[in-house]
Amino acid sequence: KENGGPDAWCFFHADMTQAARARLELEARLRQALADGHMRLYYQPQIDIATGRVTGAEALVRWLDPVEGLISPARFIPVAESSGVIGPLGEWVMREACAQGQRWRNLGLPEITLAVNVSPHQFLLTDIVGSTAAALADAGFPAAQLELEITESALAKQPEEAMLVLRRLRQLGLRLAIDDFGTGYSSLAHLKRFPIDVLKIDQGFIRDIPHSADDMAISAAVIAMGHSMGLTVLAEGVETAAQLDFLRQRGCDHFQGYLCSRPLPVSAFEDFLRRSAQG
Ligand code: C2E
Ligand code: CA
Ligand code: CA
Ligand code: CA
Repeated sequence: KENGGPDAWCFFHADMTQAARARLELEARLRQALADGHMRLYYQPQIDIATGRVTGAEALVRWLDPVEGLISPARFIPVAESSGVIGPLGEWVMREACAQGQRWRNLGLPEITLAVNVSPHQFLLTDIVGSTAAALADAGFPAAQLELEITESALAKQPEEAMLVLRRLRQLGLRLAIDDFGTGYSSLAHLKRFPIDVLKIDQGFIRDIPHSADDMAISAAVIAMGHSMGLTVLAEGVETAAQLDFLRQRGCDHFQGYLCSRPLPVSAFEDFLRRSAQG
C-alpha cells in the first residue's frame, strides 16, 4: 500500500457521506417542522429616517424547535434553498405574512408595508407570480402594502427572464426591493432597466461606518445613485447613532437595525406599533 492513498480517500469519502447524511436529516426535519407548524415569522421595523416613523417591517422566518428552541434562518435557509424545501417554506412565509398583515389591519394598527424575502430558487423555479397573487387574494391583504425582497444573484443569472417576472409581479401592484445590494454581481445597466422601487444597502457596508472611509463612500454613492434612478434607499444593520447620523446627512430614506429594534415576535411587534402610533 502506497502513501496510505486509498485510506485517505476512504476517510474523505466517509466524511462526505456523513455531511450529506446530515443535510438529508436536516432537510427531513425541516419538512416535518413546516408540516407541524413550527415555523414562525418575526418582524423587524423599518423606519423613515426623516420623520422617525415606522413605515414597514421585514418578515424574517425562525424555526421554533420544541427541543432546540429558536433556530436561525442562517442554519436552515441554505439547506432549504439547495433542496427545494424553500418552495413550500417560501410559500408558507408569503401566506403567513399576508395573513398577519391583514390581521393588523383588522386591529386598526398603523398601516405599514410588509417586506417578504424571496430566495433565488423561489424566484427562478417556482410560480412566484401565481403564488403571490393567491396569497394576497386569500388573505385580502392589499398588494400596495406588500414588498418583495429579491437578491441581486436571482436577477443576474437570467436578466431577461427576471425582467419579465419582475414586470408581472409589479403589475400585481406590489413593490420590489433589491436585497443585500452591493454584495452580488449585478450590472448597473440591467439594474437601470429593472422595474424596482427600493435598494437595500447590505449591512456589510454599514457595519464599519464611521471608521471606514471606503464604506462611507460606497454607501453615499449607492444612496445618490438610487435617488438619481428614482428609487427609495434603505440601509440595513444600523446599530449606532453615528451610523444613522451619517445616513441622515446623505439623505438615505429608511433604515432597519438593532439601533431601533431587533426582529420581534408578533405580540412584541404589535406593542411596538401601538407605542409608535402614540408618538
Ligand atoms: P437578510 O434578508 O439580509 O435579513 C437581515 C438579517 O440581518 C436578519 O437576520 C436580521 O435579523 C439581521 N439584522 C437586522 N438588524 C441587524 C443589526 O442591526 N445588526 C446585525 N448584525 N444584524 C441585523 P436573520 O433574521 O437571522 O436572517 C438571516 C437571513 O436569512 C436573511 O438575511 C435572509 O437572507 C434569510 N431569511 C430570513 N427569513 C427568510 C425568509 O422568510 N425567506 C428567505 N428566502 N430567506 C430568509
Ligand atoms: Ca432581506
Ligand atoms: Ca439584506
Ligand atoms: Ca444579508
